[in-house]
Amino acid sequence: MTKHFDIAIIGGGLSASFLALSVHKENKEASIAIFERSSEYSQKVGESIIDLAGLYLNRLGLEHLLAKQTPKTGIRFLFNENSQGQYGQYEFSSPSLRSVTNGYHLDRKTFDSDLHKELESRGVEIFRPAEVDFPDGYVQGDEVPVIHDGLNLKVVANWWIDASGRKRLLHQKMGWKDIEVDLNTSAAMAHFRNIKSQENWDKMAHPYWDKNAIGSKGFSTIHFMRKNSWWWLIRLNEEITSIGVVKSNEENSNSVIQLFEEALGSDAIIKEVVEGSGVSEKRELNQLAYCSSQWFQKGMALIGDSAGFVDPLLSPGIELIAQQSIWMGKLLGKEIESGTYNETGWKNYESRFTRALKDRMYIYQRNYAFMHSYDLMKVWLRFGNFQYFSFTILPSVRFSRRLKYPLKLNVLDKIAMNVLYKRLKKISEKRLSQNRISNHLPGEISFSEVRVPKGFAFYFLPLQLFLLAVKDYMILEWIELKNALK
Ligand SMILES: Cc1cc2nc3c(=O)[nH]c(=O)nc-3n(C[C@H](O)[C@H](O)[C@H](O)COP(=O)(O)OP(=O)(O)OC[C@H]3O[C@@H](n4cnc5c(N)ncnc54)[C@H](O)[C@@H]3O)c2cc1C
Repeated sequence: MTKHFDIAIIGGGLSASFLALSVHKENKEASIAIFERSSEYSQKVGESIIDLAGLYLNRLGLEHLLAKQTPKTGIRFLFNENSQGQYGQYEFSSPSLRSVTNGYHLDRKTFDSDLHKELESRGVEIFRPAEVDFPDGYVQGDEVPVIHDGLNLKVVANWWIDASGRKRLLHQKMGWKDIEVDLNTSAAMAHFRNIKSQENWDKMAHPYWDKNAIGSKGFSTIHFMRKNSWWWLIRLNEEITSIGVVKSNEENSNSVIQLFEEALGSDAIIKEVVEGSGVSEKRELNQLAYCSSQWFQKGMALIGDSAGFVDPLLSPGIELIAQQSIWMGKLLGKEIESGTYNETGWKNYESRFTRALKDRMYIYQRNYAFMHSYDLMKVWLRFGNFQYFSFTILPSVRFSRRLKYPLKLNVLDKIAMNVLYKRLKKISEKRLSQNRISNHLPGEISFSEVRVPKGFAFYFLPLQLFLLAVKDYMILEWIELKNALK
């Protein structure tokens, strides 16, 4: 049986679903098919979404799907510099406030399935399980064999989109190369059932959080910061919690799964949380970061993890997928309508997102050097927050057209970032040689929040964040100076 589509998407993850939604928004007449290999929906990573992805889904009229998921109550970084149990901690937090752009914790099993139902209701055909046998030497318009539920299909599509994630089906098939990347990290993860109550370390209440945040700290995206590695803890709902670690391969030669298992049994806080809970199969991913040198040719293109990935810290994955979907959705929607191939538009898509990935790698590669230290990382995050809120979040909330533009660094940003990075790295190295990590005394819990003002004050956020960053940096230098004079 031969089937014809305007767009055939390989893979049924978020890239596929977001793209199908975007194309449908642009052109209701477009015929779209999704071919997903697995028959079951499963727990996947990509569980914490930040404001921009929430904004994207809201603008597609999908608030009802998000409403079934867990609202994310904020972002927290917990530093336990002496590994002496829960009371030697420092916390850098950004509570989520009621806004148009709230983030969520996604139970991917239910969210992916809900998205597919929504897509089917909008006329998208979903084939699962489906195995796509993409032919060598494919040219636009060729028949592509697909086995769906034991049936042999031939599929003809104007565009084949690779959304097969890290399998990178078309990327491999076409022999497209990757660009060189500096970021060298790996990850291990699992899902835990009924983890112990986090009351102990959630007790460190803070009036600002209690008064302003949209829910308890336990449902924030929690990061445990360690030397050359960081952990995430994301409560998907009352029962299931996703926990994982990302480590730099440069500084830490142990395998990531070894690090994961050892810390689950020995880390002062992580051990306490998971003790006695049920755990799924543990998974590991080596060499997280990559980026394709080519993203399209006439009749086929890459999106999401099939094209590239950076690092999960602060959840840039789904945000970039949302932005790529808008770009590609517009290109494909217009092309189907006009029948004209827009090569320049595709080149722009490739260059803009290659740059977005490269720029993020530039940032991420740098923070592993001092991510274990509360005050060094705090300064780094403060400047990052200033840049991200001012040039990405705020314009996207205010002007809907800006949502599709990913964060990019200009030359001045890079110079400033490099100067700051070198200074923070130097301080970190000096401190480590003196057997200290930060300037804070162990014992007391220290809390520092990023305030996101409401209403009109929201528009003064860039100024406020910049001043906070400068203040923290000056305090850091002042204490270092005092230490040197001792
Ligand atoms: C450790 C880790 C943690 C992360 N955490 C976050 C986070 O908290 N927040 C965030 O925003 N991002 C996060 N990300 C990134 C995010 O998970 C990914 O960017 C996103 O899920 C990629 O979606 P995708 O649809 O491109 O790929 P996938 O989700 O991998 O989907 C690809 C789909 O294609 C299917 N497939 C594969 N091969 C074939 C084939 N031959 N035929 C048919 N189907 C096929 C697969 O079965 C799969 O369903 C994380 C990434 C990692 C590695």
